[in-house]
Amino acid sequence: MPQIGFIGLGIMGKPMSKNLLKAGHTLVVYDIVPAGIAEVTAAGAQAGESCRDTAARTDLIITMLPDGPEVETAILGAAGVLEGARPGSTIVDMSSISPLVSQKIGAACAAKGVEFLDGPVSGGEPKAIDATLAIMVGGKPEIFEKVRPVLEKMGSSVTLTGPVGAGNVTKLANQIMVACNIAAMGEALVLATRAGLDPEVVFNAVKGGLAGSTVLNAKAPMVIGRNFKPGFRIKLHQKDLRNALQAAESMKVSLPFTAMVQQMLMALMNEGKGDLDHSAIVTFIEQMAGIEVKKGATAQTAV
Ligand code: NAD
Repeated sequence: MPQIGFIGLGIMGKPMSKNLLKAGHTLVVYDIVPAGIAEVTAAGAQAGESCRDTAARTDLIITMLPDGPEVETAILGAAGVLEGARPGSTIVDMSSISPLVSQKIGAACAAKGVEFLDGPVSGGEPKAIDATLAIMVGGKPEIFEKVRPVLEKMGSSVTLTGPVGAGNVTKLANQIMVACNIAAMGEALVLATRAGLDPEVVFNAVKGGLAGSTVLNAKAPMVIGRNFKPGFRIKLHQKDLRNALQAAESMKVSLPFTAMVQQMLMALMNEGKGDLDHSAIVTFIEQMAGIEVKKGATAQTAV
């Protein structure tokens, strides 16, 4: 079993690293905030002194950090992972970042004889706890096969989608579909509410048809129940769509719907809603209509 280094012990990194411990792996863990280290060492891990020290003591180093700048600092920066990693070790960055940054880090690793995979996840904290994340990976097939058994301790779906960067392109594609789906749902429910219909009745009427989706089933009840407690935060989704637009620009691809929803997310952050669940995208559309989608509206008007 490889000795594993785990860097980034936040909402996702804590349960993911604990699942590796439960599976019998030896872990060295590190975070710039000591509280995360204390929690995971209490569960049996050893504490690293820095990213470099964590990498020097392990063969496989996993990072789970907020965004590209943090991943660059942790891997390429002073006292970073690459300073400690030995040739032949493997780094798997599981953060959701720009694929352009993944490629830059992959090239820097290759120059030092260190293998690199990008392996972002979908599923959020509950699936991180249950070890049922969907993990989408970019990198060399033989390196993927080598680390697959470790990734399977954290996720129930582990898929290689292409070379380095492909994991994050896949994750961005996922995030585009989810965000645009929520925005479309918002327009639909606002229209129905304005027409005097009960949005819950409308949701129940359409969910079995072609418009039905996992997003609709998860998010429509939250909007109708006015529960925006975060599963996935507005500010993280804004970051993902920004990364999608940057990657798209580098490939000269235009993503009009993504651009529009990214702007809505930024406006919501400026309203202080960055920590609400992304289903609160609907509140942007509600404001434009001057109406709130909520249970119990009765049909009095129609158009
Ligand atoms: P988080 O902010 O809770 O945790 C990130 C951790 O990284 C923090 O503990 C922070 O102290 C640490 N950190 C930052 N810079 C560091 C550095 N230079 N060296 C060491 N540690 C450092 O974030 P999270 O919710 O765990 O998300 C991590 C990644 O997973 C993000 O890219 C996010 O988009 C993605 N993701 C999150 C969810 C979710 O529901 N939370 C779902 C899917 C994917």
